[in-house]
Amino acid sequence: MGKNAIAMEDHRVSQPIREASTSKKRPLPYKKGNGKLKRWLAGFIRKTFLGCWPLGITPSKARNDTIGWSRTTNGQYTVASGYKLRFRDPNIAECSDNSANKAWWKVVWGSWLTRKMKIFIWRVFHNWLPVKTELIKRGMSMNITCNWCKSHVEDVCHALWKSPKLHNVWKHFGFIHQFPSSLRHAPDFLMVMKGKLSKEEFIFFIGITWLIWFRRNKCIFQNKDIEDSIWIPWAMEMLELHLAFAHKDSHQKPSKDKVSWSPPPLGSFMINIDASLIDGQPGCGLGVIIRDHLGALVTPATDYIPGCHSVLVAETLAIRLALKLAATRSMQNIFIASDSQSVITALKGQTRINTDWGIIIEDCILASKNFNNLSFIFIPRKCNNVAHCLANWSRLVHVSDVWTSFLPDCAAASLKADLPLGASV
Ligand SMILES: [Zn+2]
Repeated sequence: MGKNAIAMEDHRVSQPIREASTSKKRPLPYKKGNGKLKRWLAGFIRKTFLGCWPLGITPSKARNDTIGWSRTTNGQYTVASGYKLRFRDPNIAECSDNSANKAWWKVVWGSWLTRKMKIFIWRVFHNWLPVKTELIKRGMSMNITCNWCKSHVEDVCHALWKSPKLHNVWKHFGFIHQFPSSLRHAPDFLMVMKGKLSKEEFIFFIGITWLIWFRRNKCIFQNKDIEDSIWIPWAMEMLELHLAFAHKDSHQKPSKDKVSWSPPPLGSFMINIDASLIDGQPGCGLGVIIRDHLGALVTPATDYIPGCHSVLVAETLAIRLALKLAATRSMQNIFIASDSQSVITALKGQTRINTDWGIIIEDCILASKNFNNLSFIFIPRKCNNVAHCLANWSRLVHVSDVWTSFLPDCAAASLKADLPLGASV
């Protein structure tokens, strides 16, 4: 406390108990309208505070006042230290700086999550999901134990992410090791996950969370507990459908993101794949393109398949086509890139997928063992333009073919656009 001390009440610091007011008013330390007030007040403050300051701070009249932050060694506030404090005890440190919050919501509202998913995640963020701990806060009396696992208290984090019933699901999708273990508040959990995941992964994570909420409700209200081996492929198909269509809509707007195709390391090949179909209509086109470390064209291929297929069957068939093509060209070090998160997750996952496309996945996993180095990677749609053009073209003109050192016109412009800076075709 310095010479310009301003005394303020801080609601977080416990206040001394005040005497209950009586009918007789307590005398003021000065008399109203007294001309000697200023001198008298200075004496009162000196007598009351100096020498016996209640919080043990030695006051100095020689220094100016400064504001310090006790959570860092140098006394300077940092956002990280503020978050640390908030995560340790959110009750004593409300998020006063809304900028992180605002940035977070900007990502969510601007994403290609469906409207329903966005509203759902808004409810999660504001603790509006009717899980047991929330219902009790709103005055309902009930047993707080989760009806599904029957072993833990059911709060939002438990119902969506931490229940032992969900362990295999989150493990299958590769998120379980990213979960912050100490956080018990849904908004903090979501913020941390957003920080750890790429935008595409985060969207997928929210999608799965949304589906888990329906699964939990079905289990509790209809007593239908679906097995993971059935639920996981179903969930993948649902997300592929919902997110793919929502993504198509969001693509109409020009994007400022500078994500682009990037070439593989020297001595290896990048194989982009895609499938094109219209829901409910027969005929689907597959597109595959192999490029080297310079981004130069090695081999493009298309395959037209008559008949109705699901998006996941088509995407998986395109992976199988890529593997066949790489094998016939005796390539040993390859990356196979798809913009279907579900297919890539299935190729990397341990869980058997008991569906039509699951059988093709098994074929692909078997075939992948014949290569020295093979990685299946997920890439955003805007990095998959050439394969996308080939697949579209194949669907429209019913072409199945393999070319050498030549690319059909439909995809030539995309190929050029993907070239790393300074390279030419
Ligand atoms: Zn539970």
